[in-house]
Amino acid sequence: MLCTSLHLLRSSWSNQRAAFIMASSPDLLMKLVASAYSVAEKAGTIVRNVMSAGDLGIVEKTGANDLQTAADRLVQQSICSSLAKKFPKLTIIGEEDLPSEEVEDSLLALGQSEDILKHTCPSQYSGIKEEEIVVWVDPLDGTKEYTEGLLDHVTVLIGIAYGGKAIAGVINQPYYNYQAGNNAVLGRTIWGVLGIGAFGFELKEAPAGQHIITTTRSHSSKLVNDCIAAINPDKVVRVGGAGNKIIQLIEGQASAYVFASPGCKKWDTCAPEAILHAVGGQLTDIHGNPFQYQKDVKHMNSAGVLAALRNFDYYFSRVPDSVKQALVP
Ligand code: AMP
Ligand code: MG
Ligand code: MG
Repeated sequence: MLCTSLHLLRSSWSNQRAAFIMASSPDLLMKLVASAYSVAEKAGTIVRNVMSAGDLGIVEKTGANDLQTAADRLVQQSICSSLAKKFPKLTIIGEEDLPSEEVEDSLLALGQSEDILKHTCPSQYSGIKEEEIVVWVDPLDGTKEYTEGLLDHVTVLIGIAYGGKAIAGVINQPYYNYQAGNNAVLGRTIWGVLGIGAFGFELKEAPAGQHIITTTRSHSSKLVNDCIAAINPDKVVRVGGAGNKIIQLIEGQASAYVFASPGCKKWDTCAPEAILHAVGGQLTDIHGNPFQYQKDVKHMNSAGVLAALRNFDYYFSRVPDSVKQALVP
């Protein structure tokens, strides 16, 4: 859903002037990432609040494995309205198809991370204009797992694309640490920009010489399993969420993310891809083709997902031709 048709007071002279100043500012990208960070933290709070209130408001979209909850709806409203208010010329595409309506002030997050603003914008992105950016929003990745109480699988994904490429991303994990006991701080936000790196976690490689594959737990198929079997893995980890699986790669819990199936969309891969690429990893479709993130691109990643922090070429070399032939980009 295109989120930019929100009820915002955009026509006043001061808003236009502010938009012009932001559009011509050399470090627009850093301001956007710093704002997306605050917005993602707010999103994490909304996700936790909906769960503690006890009524998830579950709706089936295309079926029982494709759900939407009140958290998906509220978080999308929060992210899209907050970013559109500060950056009115952005194209923002969110997963959920929602009626365009006034968003309560209590859902807005208009702050920014001062820490992120201290980083210098990579020179290749310093001249970017607001209208050249596409933001891909998955308000709640791993909804199925959220409804089943597998809370640490859940993430909020804000991906930033320029020139069709994922260049920055913010991931909030609302229930990070929830199994660590009462004194643990709940939730975290990871962010990354190509040319700067990724922050908010400790980068770790998976154990050397072991092939640990992370894949879907709720959208499996014969093709997914055939592809994994061809890698002859030492271990297969089945968890929910594209964001969660990329976190496993950058924290050394898995060595490759293999999903030889359609089902993942651009809002699932944009933020995770940017963060993985920012630390030297690679994420493509199952043919090794990079994803495109222009505003008019097809949402579905029809040819699956393959990602690794290290040794991507090895995992790519193991994908059988039969699997490639079955998945048309
Ligand atoms: P999973 O690894 O199954 O959690 O999937 C990662 C992301 O892709 C989640 O946002 C899923 O909702 C989405 N996804 C994957 N396969 C499907 C499918 N068959 N139908 C709907 N969504 C899917
Ligand atoms: Mg998702
Ligand atoms: Mg989602």
